[in-house]
Amino acid sequence: MKPPAARQSAASLWSAMGGATAPVSTGAPLARDLVTEVAVIGAGYSGLCAAYALQKRGAETVVLDANPVGWGASGRNGGVVSSKFRLSFPTIARLHGIDTARTMHRLAHEGVRVVESLVDEFKLHDAHFQHTGSLRCAHTERAFATIRAEADWVRQALGDTSMSVQSRAEVARETGSNAFVGGVLSADAGTILPLRYVQGIAAGLTTRKVPIYESSPAIDMQRDGEGVLIRTPGGTVRAKQVIVATNAYSSLTPATGAYQRTLVPFRSAIIATERLPAELDARLMVEQRSYTETRRMMKWFRKADGRMVFGGRDAFGKEGQLAGFDALQRAMVALFPDLTSVKVEYRWSGYVGMTFDQLPHIGRSDAVTTFCLGYNGAGVAMASLLGQQAAALALGDKPELSLLATNGLQPVPFHALRSPGVRMVAAWYQFLDAIGA
Ligand SMILES: Cc1cc2nc3c(=O)[nH]c(=O)nc-3n(C[C@H](O)[C@H](O)[C@H](O)COP(=O)(O)OP(=O)(O)OC[C@H]3O[C@@H](n4cnc5c(N)ncnc54)[C@H](O)[C@@H]3O)c2cc1C
Repeated sequence: MKPPAARQSAASLWSAMGGATAPVSTGAPLARDLVTEVAVIGAGYSGLCAAYALQKRGAETVVLDANPVGWGASGRNGGVVSSKFRLSFPTIARLHGIDTARTMHRLAHEGVRVVESLVDEFKLHDAHFQHTGSLRCAHTERAFATIRAEADWVRQALGDTSMSVQSRAEVARETGSNAFVGGVLSADAGTILPLRYVQGIAAGLTTRKVPIYESSPAIDMQRDGEGVLIRTPGGTVRAKQVIVATNAYSSLTPATGAYQRTLVPFRSAIIATERLPAELDARLMVEQRSYTETRRMMKWFRKADGRMVFGGRDAFGKEGQLAGFDALQRAMVALFPDLTSVKVEYRWSGYVGMTFDQLPHIGRSDAVTTFCLGYNGAGVAMASLLGQQAAALALGDKPELSLLATNGLQPVPFHALRSPGVRMVAAWYQFLDAIGA
Protein backbone atom coordinates (compact mmCIF):
# COMPACT_ATOMS: atom_id res chain seq x y z
CA MET A 1 0.00 0.00 0.00
CA LYS A 2 1.45 3.35 -1.03
CA PRO A 3 1.84 5.85 1.82
CA PRO A 4 0.95 9.51 1.28
CA ALA A 5 3.95 11.78 0.61
CA ALA A 6 6.08 12.14 3.72
CA ARG A 7 7.12 14.98 6.00
CA GLN A 8 5.39 17.76 4.12
CA SER A 9 4.31 19.82 7.12
CA ALA A 10 7.70 21.61 7.26
CA ALA A 11 6.43 24.18 4.74
CA SER A 12 3.52 25.22 6.93
CA LEU A 13 3.12 28.53 8.69
CA TRP A 14 2.53 26.56 11.90
CA SER A 15 5.97 24.92 11.70
CA ALA A 16 7.57 28.27 10.94
CA MET A 17 5.89 29.79 14.02
CA GLY A 18 7.51 27.11 16.20
CA GLY A 19 5.92 24.45 18.34
CA ALA A 20 6.15 23.41 21.98
CA THR A 21 9.27 24.30 23.89
CA ALA A 22 8.99 21.34 26.29
CA PRO A 23 9.90 17.84 25.00
CA VAL A 24 6.93 16.30 23.19
CA SER A 25 8.05 12.67 23.27
CA THR A 26 10.51 10.14 24.65
CA GLY A 27 12.86 11.50 21.96
CA ALA A 28 13.69 8.15 20.39
CA PRO A 29 11.87 5.41 18.48
CA LEU A 30 10.75 2.31 20.32
CA ALA A 31 13.84 0.13 20.67
CA ARG A 32 12.71 -2.70 22.97
CA ASP A 33 9.80 -5.03 23.64
CA LEU A 34 7.32 -3.78 26.18
CA VAL A 35 4.06 -4.71 27.81
CA THR A 36 1.31 -2.21 28.58
CA GLU A 37 -2.42 -2.06 29.24
CA VAL A 38 -3.40 0.07 26.21
CA ALA A 39 -1.43 0.87 23.05
CA VAL A 40 -2.46 3.93 21.03
CA ILE A 41 -1.46 4.14 17.36
CA GLY A 42 -1.31 7.72 16.08
CA ALA A 43 -0.07 10.87 17.83
CA GLY A 44 -2.59 13.41 16.54
CA TYR A 45 -5.51 14.84 18.53
CA SER A 46 -7.40 11.51 18.54
CA GLY A 47 -4.52 9.40 19.81
CA LEU A 48 -3.14 11.90 22.31
CA CYS A 49 -6.55 12.73 23.77
CA ALA A 50 -7.21 9.00 24.12
CA ALA A 51 -3.86 8.61 25.88
CA TYR A 52 -4.61 11.50 28.24
CA ALA A 53 -8.02 10.07 29.17
CA LEU A 54 -6.36 6.69 29.83
CA GLN A 55 -3.64 8.27 31.95
CA LYS A 56 -6.27 10.05 34.04
CA ARG A 57 -8.02 6.72 34.60
CA GLY A 58 -4.73 5.14 35.73
CA ALA A 59 -4.39 2.83 32.70
CA GLU A 60 -0.80 2.24 31.62
CA THR A 61 -0.52 3.55 28.05
CA VAL A 62 2.01 3.78 25.23
CA VAL A 63 1.63 5.95 22.10
CA LEU A 64 3.26 5.00 18.78
CA ASP A 65 3.51 7.16 15.68
CA ALA A 66 5.24 6.50 12.38
CA ASN A 67 6.15 10.20 12.27
CA PRO A 68 6.75 13.13 14.62
CA VAL A 69 3.87 14.20 16.88
CA GLY A 70 1.31 16.18 14.85
CA TRP A 71 2.77 15.17 11.49
CA GLY A 72 -0.71 14.20 10.24
CA ALA A 73 -3.71 16.46 9.90
CA SER A 74 -3.44 17.60 13.53
CA GLY A 75 -0.31 19.63 12.84
CA ARG A 76 -1.38 20.92 9.43
CA ASN A 77 -5.01 21.97 9.72
CA GLY A 78 -6.55 25.43 9.67
CA GLY A 79 -7.15 25.61 13.41
CA VAL A 80 -10.85 26.37 12.98
CA VAL A 81 -12.51 25.07 16.15
CA SER A 82 -16.12 24.31 15.28
CA SER A 83 -19.18 22.89 17.02
CA LYS A 84 -20.83 21.30 14.00
CA PHE A 85 -20.92 18.20 11.91
CA ARG A 86 -20.88 18.26 8.14
CA LEU A 87 -24.44 16.93 8.30
CA SER A 88 -26.67 19.78 9.53
CA PHE A 89 -28.78 19.43 12.68
CA PRO A 90 -32.12 19.90 10.81
CA THR A 91 -31.08 17.09 8.44
CA ILE A 92 -30.13 14.88 11.38
CA ALA A 93 -33.58 15.59 12.91
CA ARG A 94 -35.34 14.81 9.63
CA LEU A 95 -33.47 11.54 9.16
CA HIS A 96 -33.19 10.35 12.75
CA GLY A 97 -35.63 12.32 14.91
CA ILE A 98 -35.38 15.31 17.21
CA ASP A 99 -33.97 13.43 20.22
CA THR A 100 -31.02 12.24 18.14
CA ALA A 101 -30.49 15.78 16.82
CA ARG A 102 -30.40 17.03 20.45
CA THR A 103 -27.79 14.47 21.46
CA MET A 104 -25.67 15.19 18.37
CA HIS A 105 -25.90 18.91 19.07
CA ARG A 106 -24.70 18.31 22.62
CA LEU A 107 -21.78 16.17 21.40
CA ALA A 108 -20.75 18.82 18.85
CA HIS A 109 -20.56 21.51 21.52
CA GLU A 110 -18.87 19.13 23.97
CA GLY A 111 -15.96 18.97 21.51
CA VAL A 112 -15.32 22.69 22.01
CA ARG A 113 -15.49 22.20 25.80
CA VAL A 114 -12.81 19.51 25.54
CA VAL A 115 -10.50 21.87 23.62
CA GLU A 116 -11.07 24.54 26.28
CA SER A 117 -10.33 22.19 29.13
CA LEU A 118 -7.18 20.76 27.51
CA VAL A 119 -5.88 24.28 26.86
CA ASP A 120 -6.56 24.98 30.50
CA GLU A 121 -5.19 21.77 32.02
CA PHE A 122 -1.99 21.78 29.95
CA LYS A 123 -1.65 25.59 30.15
CA LEU A 124 -1.45 25.88 26.35
CA HIS A 125 -1.55 29.68 26.26
CA ASP A 126 0.80 29.76 23.29
CA ALA A 127 -1.76 27.75 21.25
CA HIS A 128 -3.77 31.02 21.27
CA PHE A 129 -7.22 29.48 21.53
CA GLN A 130 -9.70 32.28 20.90
CA HIS A 131 -13.40 31.70 21.47
CA THR A 132 -14.31 34.35 18.92
CA GLY A 133 -17.01 32.45 17.00
CA SER A 134 -17.18 31.37 13.39
CA LEU A 135 -18.97 33.30 10.66
CA ARG A 136 -20.47 31.33 7.76
CA CYS A 137 -20.61 33.65 4.77
CA ALA A 138 -23.25 33.07 2.08
CA HIS A 139 -22.14 33.31 -1.55
CA THR A 140 -25.71 33.49 -2.97
CA GLU A 141 -29.14 34.62 -1.74
CA ARG A 142 -30.28 31.04 -1.93
CA ALA A 143 -27.42 29.84 0.27
CA PHE A 144 -28.15 32.72 2.68
CA ALA A 145 -31.80 31.64 2.96
CA THR A 146 -30.69 28.07 3.72
CA ILE A 147 -28.27 29.01 6.51
CA ARG A 148 -30.76 31.52 7.98
CA ALA A 149 -33.42 28.79 8.07
CA GLU A 150 -30.93 26.46 9.74
CA ALA A 151 -30.10 29.06 12.40
CA ASP A 152 -33.84 29.63 13.06
CA TRP A 153 -34.40 25.89 13.32
CA VAL A 154 -31.52 25.40 15.75
CA ARG A 155 -32.87 28.25 17.91
CA GLN A 156 -36.46 27.05 17.94
CA ALA A 157 -36.05 23.27 17.95
CA LEU A 158 -32.89 22.96 20.07
CA GLY A 159 -33.06 26.17 22.10
CA ASP A 160 -29.55 27.14 20.94
CA THR A 161 -29.28 30.91 20.84
CA SER A 162 -25.59 30.96 19.92
CA MET A 163 -26.34 31.42 16.20
CA SER A 164 -27.24 34.85 14.84
CA VAL A 165 -27.82 36.27 11.37
CA GLN A 166 -25.64 39.02 9.91
CA SER A 167 -26.63 41.28 7.03
CA ARG A 168 -24.63 41.82 3.84
CA ALA A 169 -23.24 45.10 5.26
CA GLU A 170 -22.25 43.48 8.57
CA VAL A 171 -20.41 40.63 6.83
CA ALA A 172 -18.65 43.11 4.51
CA ARG A 173 -17.58 45.25 7.48
CA GLU A 174 -16.15 42.43 9.49
CA THR A 175 -14.56 40.34 6.74
CA GLY A 176 -13.42 43.17 4.48
CA SER A 177 -14.90 41.30 1.48
CA ASN A 178 -17.87 42.40 -0.62
CA ALA A 179 -18.34 38.92 -2.05
CA PHE A 180 -21.01 37.75 0.40
CA VAL A 181 -24.72 38.46 0.65
CA GLY A 182 -24.96 37.80 4.40
CA GLY A 183 -23.90 35.30 7.02
CA VAL A 184 -24.63 33.34 10.17
CA LEU A 185 -22.42 33.67 13.21
CA SER A 186 -21.94 30.61 15.45
CA ALA A 187 -20.68 32.00 18.73
CA ASP A 188 -19.50 28.67 20.19
CA ALA A 189 -16.46 28.30 17.94
CA GLY A 190 -13.10 29.91 17.40
CA THR A 191 -9.51 29.48 16.32
CA ILE A 192 -6.36 27.84 17.65
CA LEU A 193 -2.77 27.31 16.50
CA PRO A 194 -3.10 23.62 15.58
CA LEU A 195 0.51 22.44 15.77
CA ARG A 196 1.08 24.11 19.12
CA TYR A 197 -2.15 22.54 20.38
CA VAL A 198 -1.15 18.99 19.41
CA GLN A 199 2.45 19.40 20.55
CA GLY A 200 1.28 21.00 23.79
CA ILE A 201 -0.89 17.99 24.59
CA ALA A 202 2.03 15.68 23.77
CA ALA A 203 4.37 17.69 25.99
CA GLY A 204 1.80 17.46 28.80
CA LEU A 205 1.63 13.69 28.39
CA THR A 206 5.41 13.41 28.37
CA THR A 207 5.53 15.38 31.64
CA ARG A 208 2.97 12.93 33.02
CA LYS A 209 5.24 10.03 32.01
CA VAL A 210 3.07 8.66 29.19
CA PRO A 211 5.63 7.37 26.66
CA ILE A 212 5.23 8.63 23.07
CA TYR A 213 7.44 6.86 20.54
CA GLU A 214 7.85 8.78 17.27
CA SER A 215 9.31 7.22 14.09
CA SER A 216 7.76 3.97 15.30
CA PRO A 217 5.26 2.74 12.70
CA ALA A 218 3.00 -0.15 13.64
CA ILE A 219 4.02 -2.49 10.85
CA ASP A 220 2.09 -5.50 12.07
CA MET A 221 -0.78 -5.99 14.50
CA GLN A 222 -1.99 -9.46 15.51
CA ARG A 223 -4.24 -10.96 18.18
CA ASP A 224 -2.08 -12.40 20.94
CA GLY A 225 -4.02 -14.56 23.39
CA GLU A 226 -6.44 -12.21 25.18
CA GLY A 227 -4.66 -9.12 23.85
CA VAL A 228 -2.77 -7.73 20.88
CA LEU A 229 0.84 -7.73 19.71
CA ILE A 230 2.04 -4.71 17.72
CA ARG A 231 5.32 -4.84 15.87
CA THR A 232 7.42 -1.76 15.04
CA PRO A 233 10.85 -1.84 13.34
CA GLY A 234 12.65 -1.45 16.70
CA GLY A 235 10.49 -3.42 19.14
CA THR A 236 7.08 -4.79 20.02
CA VAL A 237 4.23 -3.66 22.23
CA ARG A 238 2.05 -6.29 23.86
CA ALA A 239 -1.21 -4.74 25.12
CA LYS A 240 -4.62 -5.76 26.43
CA GLN A 241 -6.30 -3.18 24.17
CA VAL A 242 -5.28 -1.03 21.21
CA ILE A 243 -6.75 2.26 19.99
CA VAL A 244 -6.24 2.97 16.28
CA ALA A 245 -6.15 6.75 15.78
CA THR A 246 -4.62 7.02 12.34
CA ASN A 247 -7.53 8.63 10.43
CA ALA A 248 -6.76 9.67 6.82
CA TYR A 249 -3.14 8.45 7.15
CA SER A 250 -4.11 4.87 8.02
CA SER A 251 -2.58 3.52 4.79
CA LEU A 252 0.94 4.35 5.99
CA THR A 253 1.36 0.63 6.77
CA PRO A 254 -0.73 -2.47 6.05
CA ALA A 255 -1.24 -2.95 9.82
CA THR A 256 -3.72 -0.04 9.86
CA GLY A 257 -4.69 -0.12 6.15
CA ALA A 258 -8.16 -1.59 6.83
CA TYR A 259 -9.15 1.69 8.55
CA GLN A 260 -8.25 3.69 5.43
CA ARG A 261 -10.78 1.63 3.49
CA THR A 262 -13.58 3.05 5.66
CA LEU A 263 -12.71 6.57 4.44
CA VAL A 264 -12.43 8.63 1.29
CA PRO A 265 -9.28 10.75 1.78
CA PHE A 266 -9.67 14.20 0.29
CA ARG A 267 -6.76 16.57 -0.14
CA SER A 268 -7.14 19.87 1.68
CA ALA A 269 -4.74 22.75 0.99
CA ILE A 270 -3.80 25.96 2.80
CA ILE A 271 -1.89 29.10 1.87
CA ALA A 272 -0.70 31.91 4.14
CA THR A 273 0.27 35.36 2.90
CA GLU A 274 3.13 37.55 3.99
CA ARG A 275 2.28 39.73 7.02
CA LEU A 276 -0.48 42.07 5.97
CA PRO A 277 0.29 45.78 5.67
CA ALA A 278 -1.12 47.64 8.70
CA GLU A 279 -3.93 49.28 6.72
CA LEU A 280 -5.17 45.91 5.39
CA ASP A 281 -4.70 44.19 8.73
CA ALA A 282 -6.99 46.80 10.27
CA ARG A 283 -9.68 46.20 7.63
CA LEU A 284 -9.76 42.42 7.11
CA MET A 285 -11.40 40.01 9.55
CA VAL A 286 -11.60 42.64 12.24
CA GLU A 287 -13.25 40.34 14.81
CA GLN A 288 -10.49 37.71 14.46
CA ARG A 289 -12.98 34.90 13.95
CA SER A 290 -12.80 31.90 11.69
CA TYR A 291 -14.76 32.27 8.45
CA THR A 292 -16.25 29.69 6.12
CA GLU A 293 -18.32 30.10 2.99
CA THR A 294 -21.29 28.24 1.61
CA ARG A 295 -19.87 26.93 -1.69
CA ARG A 296 -19.86 23.13 -1.98
CA MET A 297 -16.08 23.23 -2.54
CA MET A 298 -15.93 25.32 0.60
CA LYS A 299 -13.13 27.82 1.26
CA TRP A 300 -12.34 29.08 4.75
CA PHE A 301 -10.12 31.84 6.08
CA ARG A 302 -8.77 33.39 9.24
CA LYS A 303 -5.91 35.58 10.39
CA ALA A 304 -2.83 34.26 12.18
CA ASP A 305 0.53 35.87 12.83
CA GLY A 306 -0.76 39.00 11.08
CA ARG A 307 -1.32 37.03 7.84
CA MET A 308 -4.31 35.85 5.86
CA VAL A 309 -4.58 32.07 6.12
CA PHE A 310 -6.82 30.70 3.38
CA GLY A 311 -7.77 27.08 2.74
CA GLY A 312 -10.05 24.74 0.93
CA ARG A 313 -10.60 21.29 -0.44
CA ASP A 314 -8.67 20.51 -3.56
CA ALA A 315 -9.57 17.08 -4.82
CA PHE A 316 -7.53 17.42 -7.99
CA GLY A 317 -4.00 17.79 -6.72
CA LYS A 318 -1.65 15.45 -4.97
CA GLU A 319 0.29 16.61 -1.90
CA GLY A 320 2.95 19.12 -2.84
CA GLN A 321 1.58 19.89 -6.33
CA LEU A 322 1.56 23.61 -6.99
CA ALA A 323 -1.50 23.84 -9.29
CA GLY A 324 -3.91 23.46 -6.37
CA PHE A 325 -2.20 26.25 -4.44
CA ASP A 326 -2.41 28.61 -7.40
CA ALA A 327 -6.14 27.90 -7.68
CA LEU A 328 -6.48 28.62 -3.97
CA GLN A 329 -4.67 31.94 -4.36
CA ARG A 330 -6.99 32.89 -7.23
CA ALA A 331 -10.01 32.02 -5.07
CA MET A 332 -8.59 34.18 -2.24
CA VAL A 333 -8.06 37.16 -4.53
CA ALA A 334 -11.57 36.74 -5.99
CA LEU A 335 -12.98 37.16 -2.47
CA PHE A 336 -10.39 39.74 -1.38
CA PRO A 337 -9.22 41.81 -4.39
CA ASP A 338 -7.14 43.85 -1.90
CA LEU A 339 -4.80 40.87 -1.68
CA THR A 340 -3.91 40.86 -5.39
CA SER A 341 -0.37 42.03 -4.83
CA VAL A 342 0.14 40.49 -1.38
CA LYS A 343 2.66 37.65 -1.56
CA VAL A 344 1.86 34.08 -0.53
CA GLU A 345 4.68 32.83 1.69
CA TYR A 346 3.47 29.40 2.87
CA ARG A 347 1.68 26.57 1.05
CA TRP A 348 0.92 23.19 2.52
CA SER A 349 -1.68 20.46 2.43
CA GLY A 350 -2.87 17.26 4.01
CA TYR A 351 -5.60 14.66 3.85
CA VAL A 352 -8.97 14.84 5.55
CA GLY A 353 -10.97 11.65 6.10
CA MET A 354 -14.43 11.92 4.55
CA THR A 355 -17.18 9.38 5.24
CA PHE A 356 -20.25 8.44 3.22
CA ASP A 357 -22.69 9.49 5.95
CA GLN A 358 -20.72 12.74 6.54
CA LEU A 359 -20.24 11.86 10.22
CA PRO A 360 -17.23 10.72 12.26
CA HIS A 361 -17.14 7.05 13.27
CA ILE A 362 -16.11 5.55 16.60
CA GLY A 363 -16.37 1.96 17.68
CA ARG A 364 -14.67 -1.37 18.15
CA SER A 365 -13.41 -3.43 15.24
CA ASP A 366 -12.94 -6.48 17.50
CA ALA A 367 -12.78 -7.33 21.19
CA VAL A 368 -9.36 -5.69 21.64
CA THR A 369 -9.40 -2.84 19.11
CA THR A 370 -11.11 0.55 19.28
CA PHE A 371 -10.98 3.20 16.55
CA CYS A 372 -12.15 6.76 15.91
CA LEU A 373 -11.87 8.54 12.57
CA GLY A 374 -13.66 10.29 9.71
CA TYR A 375 -13.98 13.85 10.96
CA ASN A 376 -14.88 15.13 7.48
CA GLY A 377 -12.48 18.07 7.78
CA ALA A 378 -13.83 19.25 11.15
CA GLY A 379 -11.73 17.35 13.64
CA VAL A 380 -9.96 19.83 15.91
CA ALA A 381 -12.72 19.71 18.52
CA MET A 382 -14.31 16.39 17.51
CA ALA A 383 -11.09 14.33 17.45
CA SER A 384 -10.25 15.79 20.87
CA LEU A 385 -13.62 14.55 22.15
CA LEU A 386 -13.70 11.21 20.35
CA GLY A 387 -10.15 10.35 21.39
CA GLN A 388 -11.39 10.60 24.98
CA GLN A 389 -14.46 8.54 24.16
CA ALA A 390 -12.31 5.89 22.44
CA ALA A 391 -10.40 5.56 25.71
CA ALA A 392 -13.69 5.05 27.55
CA LEU A 393 -14.74 2.35 25.05
CA ALA A 394 -11.37 0.62 25.36
CA LEU A 395 -11.84 0.49 29.14
CA GLY A 396 -15.26 -1.12 28.73
CA ASP A 397 -17.50 1.94 29.28
CA LYS A 398 -20.51 2.70 27.10
CA PRO A 399 -20.39 6.46 26.47
CA GLU A 400 -23.32 8.16 24.69
CA LEU A 401 -22.19 8.39 21.05
CA SER A 402 -25.48 8.54 19.20
CA LEU A 403 -24.99 8.42 15.40
CA LEU A 404 -21.20 8.40 15.77
CA ALA A 405 -21.20 4.88 17.23
CA THR A 406 -20.19 2.37 14.58
CA ASN A 407 -20.39 -1.37 14.81
CA GLY A 408 -17.19 -2.82 13.32
CA LEU A 409 -15.34 -1.50 10.30
CA GLN A 410 -17.54 -0.36 7.44
CA PRO A 411 -15.44 -0.23 4.27
CA VAL A 412 -16.45 2.33 1.66
CA PRO A 413 -18.03 0.46 -1.28
CA PHE A 414 -15.86 0.41 -4.44
CA HIS A 415 -12.95 1.85 -2.45
CA ALA A 416 -10.51 1.20 -5.30
CA LEU A 417 -12.46 3.71 -7.39
CA ARG A 418 -12.32 6.46 -4.78
CA SER A 419 -9.82 8.75 -6.56
CA PRO A 420 -11.71 9.05 -9.87
CA GLY A 421 -14.94 9.17 -7.85
CA VAL A 422 -13.69 12.08 -5.71
CA ARG A 423 -12.53 13.92 -8.84
CA MET A 424 -15.91 13.46 -10.53
CA VAL A 425 -17.85 14.66 -7.48
CA ALA A 426 -15.49 17.62 -7.03
CA ALA A 427 -15.82 18.64 -10.68
CA TRP A 428 -19.61 18.49 -10.41
CA TYR A 429 -19.55 20.58 -7.20
CA GLN A 430 -17.28 23.16 -8.82
CA PHE A 431 -19.66 23.41 -11.76
CA LEU A 432 -22.66 23.91 -9.44
CA ASP A 433 -20.72 26.52 -7.44
CA ALA A 434 -19.72 28.33 -10.62
CA ILE A 435 -23.32 28.65 -11.82
CA GLY A 436 -24.52 29.60 -8.32
CA ALA A 437 -26.83 26.60 -8.02
C1 LIG B 1 -5.26 20.86 5.45
C2 LIG B 1 -6.26 20.51 6.51
C3 LIG B 1 -7.03 21.51 7.09
C4 LIG B 1 -7.96 21.20 8.09
N1 LIG B 1 -8.61 22.21 8.72
C5 LIG B 1 -9.39 21.94 9.80
C6 LIG B 1 -9.93 22.99 10.56
O1 LIG B 1 -9.68 24.18 10.31
N2 LIG B 1 -10.75 22.67 11.59
C7 LIG B 1 -11.02 21.37 11.93
O2 LIG B 1 -11.77 21.14 12.88
N3 LIG B 1 -10.44 20.34 11.26
C8 LIG B 1 -9.63 20.60 10.22
N4 LIG B 1 -9.01 19.57 9.56
C9 LIG B 1 -9.24 18.18 10.02
C10 LIG B 1 -8.44 17.85 11.29
O3 LIG B 1 -7.12 18.32 11.16
C11 LIG B 1 -8.45 16.33 11.50
O4 LIG B 1 -9.79 15.88 11.56
C12 LIG B 1 -7.76 15.91 12.80
O5 LIG B 1 -6.51 16.50 12.92
C13 LIG B 1 -7.64 14.39 12.85
O6 LIG B 1 -6.80 14.06 13.92
P1 LIG B 1 -6.33 12.57 14.12
O7 LIG B 1 -5.52 12.54 15.36
O8 LIG B 1 -7.50 11.66 14.06
O9 LIG B 1 -5.45 12.22 12.83
P2 LIG B 1 -4.01 12.78 12.39
O10 LIG B 1 -3.69 14.06 13.04
O11 LIG B 1 -3.97 12.74 10.90
O12 LIG B 1 -2.99 11.72 13.00
C14 LIG B 1 -2.85 10.43 12.49
C15 LIG B 1 -1.44 9.95 12.86
O13 LIG B 1 -1.38 8.55 12.66
C16 LIG B 1 -0.04 8.24 12.29
N5 LIG B 1 -0.08 6.90 11.67
C17 LIG B 1 -0.79 6.49 10.60
N6 LIG B 1 -0.60 5.18 10.40
C18 LIG B 1 0.27 4.73 11.35
C19 LIG B 1 0.83 3.48 11.67
N7 LIG B 1 0.55 2.38 10.95
N8 LIG B 1 1.69 3.39 12.72
C20 LIG B 1 1.97 4.49 13.47
N9 LIG B 1 1.45 5.72 13.20
C21 LIG B 1 0.60 5.84 12.16
C22 LIG B 1 0.35 9.37 11.34
O14 LIG B 1 1.75 9.50 11.26
C23 LIG B 1 -0.33 10.57 12.01
O15 LIG B 1 0.55 11.27 12.84
C24 LIG B 1 -8.12 19.84 8.52
C25 LIG B 1 -7.34 18.83 7.94
C26 LIG B 1 -6.41 19.16 6.94
C27 LIG B 1 -5.56 18.07 6.35
